[in-house]
Amino acid sequence: MCEVTEWRYPQGFSLSRRCAIPRRTATEVLGVCLVAAVLTLPAAFCQERTKAKPTPSDAKKQVAPDPEPSATDEQSQVTAKITRWFDGKAAAVSLRFDDSNPTHILIAVPLLTQHQMVGTFLINPGRDGYKRHKDKWETEAIRGGHEFGNHTMHHRGAKDDEEADYEIGECSKFIWNLFPGKSKLLAFRSGGGTTWNIQKPWSHYNKKWHLVYDEHSLGVGTEGEGYVRSMPQFKERLDQALKSGLWVTFYYHQIGLEKGLGISEAFFREQVEHLRSRRDDLWFAGIAQAHKYQAERRAAKVSIRRLAERRLEIALAAGTDVALYDQALTMELAMTGTWRADRVKVADAQGRVLKTRTAQSEGRQVVRFEVPPVNGTMTVSGSESRR
Ligand SMILES: [Zn+2]
Repeated sequence: MCEVTEWRYPQGFSLSRRCAIPRRTATEVLGVCLVAAVLTLPAAFCQERTKAKPTPSDAKKQVAPDPEPSATDEQSQVTAKITRWFDGKAAAVSLRFDDSNPTHILIAVPLLTQHQMVGTFLINPGRDGYKRHKDKWETEAIRGGHEFGNHTMHHRGAKDDEEADYEIGECSKFIWNLFPGKSKLLAFRSGGGTTWNIQKPWSHYNKKWHLVYDEHSLGVGTEGEGYVRSMPQFKERLDQALKSGLWVTFYYHQIGLEKGLGISEAFFREQVEHLRSRRDDLWFAGIAQAHKYQAERRAAKVSIRRLAERRLEIALAAGTDVALYDQALTMELAMTGTWRADRVKVADAQGRVLKTRTAQSEGRQVVRFEVPPVNGTMTVSGSESRR
């Protein structure tokens, strides 16, 4: 435990904040934690702050793939599952751009939009880089389907809780205003090099202003925190995600100036081209979007029940709050024997036929379709296969 918690960025950037806990000796801290554990009261007390700002070692533990929500009908051997990522893609990729640097709206947004990829732009609405290009940010970036995240109003930390509430809260409200009717969950980072003299735990701000992190991704917790310096390094990290079915985030600051965290425009373009070449295997998602899919899938349960010969009912039990978690999930039905994927019909509880598509997965014919992350049932009917 500590008086000041500091997360050191490899580039020499650092972030610190004062914990609410007074400085203690190791023995005292151990004693306090043991008592806490016995009383089971503040078990979350120790855990909460790592949730807010995962240290690299914590983040590493969290990137293991989740267990799969699936169910099989024993007789027909039809299996229903929620795919690891949207549309059955092998891995998810988020591209994160910090500080509303003008090159983000002038270079990254048009290039990504052109390739049908999305970026997550952590903006500072109170700073010049945003204000100077406000019109473009609020038309081109939104139209292109890009995600905006909270990077605080001014990127200057806070001298107390009141200022923190303003810096974080106003930025959340600003973004909510730009995306009316959308989920309020926003990707967040407090800003490298800023100091937060706050007494309230970060979990207070996360909850109040609906902040989420990419802490379950491969970018965080590995050396460089998502920044890469060469194409081999970029490809290696992407391949690692593809091999393990993980979510990888890449971080960007200025594009076109190789200084500090900046990279050249040519290097950025090369990365985008490479991602494009792997598009069949990748889900390009915003950070909040990938976070939602992951959390929804983790909390969901799938069950399957036979209604009649060649008629199955699949039930989805969602475990997330639909007001915040609104990302559609991809359901996949795998067939063997006499069931044929191209003859399967799926209808929702109201009898409406859902749009499905067929694919191959692990040597089996599969049917895929999207479902909202809510409790519901679907009926699957298959016609006799004629060979
Ligand atoms: Zn920043």
